[in-house]
Amino acid sequence: MARASAFQAECREFESRFPLHLFFIYHHLFFIKLTIVSTIIMNSKPSDFFWETKPLNELTTQEWEALCDRCGLCCLNRIQVEEGDTIYLTRVACRCYDIGVGQCGDYPNRFAQVEGCTQLTIERISEFTWLPETCAYRLRFENKPLPSWHPLISGTPLSVREHGIHKYDPVNESDNIDLEDYVIDEGVGDW
Ligand code: SF4
Ligand code: SF4
Repeated sequence: MARASAFQAECREFESRFPLHLFFIYHHLFFIKLTIVSTIIMNSKPSDFFWETKPLNELTTQEWEALCDRCGLCCLNRIQVEEGDTIYLTRVACRCYDIGVGQCGDYPNRFAQVEGCTQLTIERISEFTWLPETCAYRLRFENKPLPSWHPLISGTPLSVREHGIHKYDPVNESDNIDLEDYVIDEGVGDW
C-alpha cells in the first residue's frame, strides 16, 4: 500500500512537470504540421503531366530540362552535300558525346567544349526544324503528344535507348573519320 502511494505520488510529480495532455496536444500539432508541409511539397513539384498541359513558354527551367528525353539524336553530325538543299544525317556523334554512357560527356560546359553546340530555347524553337521528328521539343512545338517511350511517360530512361542515337550504331567524330562515309540514308526531316 505504501508502495502504491509512492508510485502515485511519483506519477503526479511527473505529470506536474510534463503534463500528459500537453504532450498529446503537441503530438497532434506535429502531425498536422507534417501533413501541411507534405501537401506543400507535393504541390511544388513539377506539375503533373506538365508536358501535356502547359505550353512550352510556361515551362519552368526544371520542366524544360525534363522534356529532353536524352535520345542524343541532336548530337549526330549532319552534312549538306554540294549545292543541294538536302541535309544528310550521319551516324557520327559529336566528339563530346559519351556513347557508352549515352549522354553528353560534359553537359555543363558543352558550349565551351564544342563550337556549334546549340542551346535549345523557347525563343528559337521554331528554327529547330532539323531536330528529329521524335524530339520532345519539336513534338510539343507542333502540338503533338510525346511517344510512350519518353521517360516522362515510361518512367525510365532505359526506354529511350532503342529510339535514340544507339539505333544508328554511332561512332565518335575524329580526325580519321570522313563524314560522307557515315551518311545515313534518310535525309533530315524524314527521321
Ligand atoms: S533530339 Fe531533342 S529530345 Fe533528343 S536529346 Fe536532342 S534535344 Fe533532347
Ligand atoms: S557538346 Fe554535348 S550536347 Fe553539344 S552536341 Fe556535343 S554531345 Fe551534344
